[in-house]
Amino acid sequence: MILPPSTLGMLGGGQLARFFVIAAHEMGYRVVVLDPDKKSPAGLLADKHLCAGYDDAVALDEMMHTCAAVTTEFENVPASTLEKLAKSVPVHPAASAVAVCQHRVSEKNFLRDNGFPHALYAEINTEADILATDSGLYPAILKVARFGYDGKGQARVSSPAEALEAFHGFKSEQCVLERRLTLDYEVSVVLARDAAGNVQAFPTVENAHRYGILDVSIAPARGSAEVRDHAQLLARGVAEKLDYVGTLGVEFFVCDGKLYVNEMAPRPHNSGHYTIDACVTNQFEQQVRALCGLPLGDPRLHSSAVMVNLLGDVWPNGAEPDWDVLFAQPDLKLHLYGKHEARPGRKMGHFTVIGSDADEVLKSAMDARLKIGVENN
Ligand code: ADP
Ligand code: MG
Repeated sequence: MILPPSTLGMLGGGQLARFFVIAAHEMGYRVVVLDPDKKSPAGLLADKHLCAGYDDAVALDEMMHTCAAVTTEFENVPASTLEKLAKSVPVHPAASAVAVCQHRVSEKNFLRDNGFPHALYAEINTEADILATDSGLYPAILKVARFGYDGKGQARVSSPAEALEAFHGFKSEQCVLERRLTLDYEVSVVLARDAAGNVQAFPTVENAHRYGILDVSIAPARGSAEVRDHAQLLARGVAEKLDYVGTLGVEFFVCDGKLYVNEMAPRPHNSGHYTIDACVTNQFEQQVRALCGLPLGDPRLHSSAVMVNLLGDVWPNGAEPDWDVLFAQPDLKLHLYGKHEARPGRKMGHFTVIGSDADEVLKSAMDARLKIGVENN
């Protein structure tokens, strides 16, 4: 067990890392953050911010010498960085698990090879791969294999001709072409798994997206109990097959009442932010616990919760929104990430409304966001 006041290393300095730093600090740990951005949200709070690239040999050396264990907040850390660190310090999740999740082709192949339900897909390396696709694959979505997030690097296409055009638009980068499903709704499961294989999962959450970006999460998910339970089972199965250690997010589509795994995030997940305010142990504390070899905490939901993301769009012309109207609401918890520049589509913060009546909580959350000028869907 790694105990406080040991120093933990975090690769990446965004909001997920910031919440990790907060959880680790509350538990008595110190944190070193590696992120090339001088003003990264987590770097501002960390005990030490190594402002360097993820392959910077000097920075990685310092991490190896000062950290008792290292984790990551995003999937795009080079696998070589994780492997290098792992030679002299425990790294969780392992490079092998992150590698599966950071590449859409390996992710889909992992789902296929392990018998997890997923949307029909084809691996696209060349124009010929597109021309060879079956018409049953359309309508489809072309997704770049690497570095896509929040709906970026995706194009909706209805025919091979459109897929070709989109492929050229992505500079013929490796892609997956995936059947576009008609979604009933989307759900996710965030869980933590320790090195001994113990799993503690948070409840299945319902997610609504806007412009390809998570917009609202409702915990627990509405809809059928079968869907909720099956999602839990599938998420556990994915964690086991990845031999995962840490906090993992698994996204699902619900289509004709059936579940399809969409993608995995080898880190805490935006749809798990409500756990900060509504669960006995939150997803970031679980990340610390799994990393340090502590027993996992109780993930129990003690209140119904609705989380609303606050994108840069809420800052019209850069002007600060009326936070006083949110602070006026006693059931609402506001979290701002300390980002210095609000850009459209950029995740700047979120709020969570908690309470005992799920319908009232949802209404209260939707009312709150209307008050800061965001139209509800
Ligand atoms: P990201 O890495 O940007 O989260 P996703 O693959 O999760 O990428 O896609 C973002 C969103 O786009 C999904 O949450 C879903 O709303 C929609 N989407 C993605 N793939 C499909 C699909 N095959 N069928 C229907 N909707 C999809
Ligand atoms: Mg997604």
